Amino acid sequence: METIIVNNPEEGAEKAFQLIKTAIQANEVKTLGLATGSTPLKLYDKMAHAALDVSEITTVNLDEYVGLAKDDPNSYHYYMNENLFSKVHFKETHLPNGMAENLEEECANYEALLQANPVDIQILGIGTNGHIGFNEPGTSFSSKTDVVELAAATREANKRFFEKEEDVPTHAISMGIQSIMAAKKIILLAFGAEKAEAIKQTVEGAVNVDCPASVLQQHPNAIIITDKDAASLLTGVSSR
Ligand code: PGA
Repeated sequence: METIIVNNPEEGAEKAFQLIKTAIQANEVKTLGLATGSTPLKLYDKMAHAALDVSEITTVNLDEYVGLAKDDPNSYHYYMNENLFSKVHFKETHLPNGMAENLEEECANYEALLQANPVDIQILGIGTNGHIGFNEPGTSFSSKTDVVELAAATREANKRFFEKEEDVPTHAISMGIQSIMAAKKIILLAFGAEKAEAIKQTVEGAVNVDCPASVLQQHPNAIIITDKDAASLLTGVSSR
């Protein structure tokens, strides 16, 4: 795992953008794994304004809330359309369907989609509790796409987007940790002091289900891009 410490989120987004752009221009990306949340917004803005040809690239997203329709402003379908898909035209875009009548079948279908479209680069954010996707602490490292229950910390962190805390969905469909680890390359972005503890556990802690992102220590090609605030508790890494 490589850790890159940048001065601020803008530099972090630029670094991630350059890595992705270089790989796309070298024709190394058939499938791009995408994330939602506040963290990748600047990256998506850069992608939206770059004249990159992504017409042969398929995207797969990490997760979607259960029970939110695609046109619900809090759904991740809506987020992706607003922030990227309406501006950049990929070959195909996929997110789990949180409104599926049979959620188990939806998860199995999504996992099959991932098998058919192996992810070349996966973008990740990280929760304050170390989650990746919606794989909360305690999730098995061998998990595949599944219906998961959101941790109290996650509902608390995400309530800012909803009118009332009760409106935050309790469940989501999320790619599992094993599904995420199958990506050839992983770029995790972390900005802000509220991520510092999670980044410390991820980079310098034991590899343990208590911090799901710590599994990235076992990935052959994972890059953590963190700003100074999120890196503030690290002791042993050097900035590059
Ligand atoms: P954030 O969420 O980018 O909104 O901080 C990240 C996450 O929960 O994975």
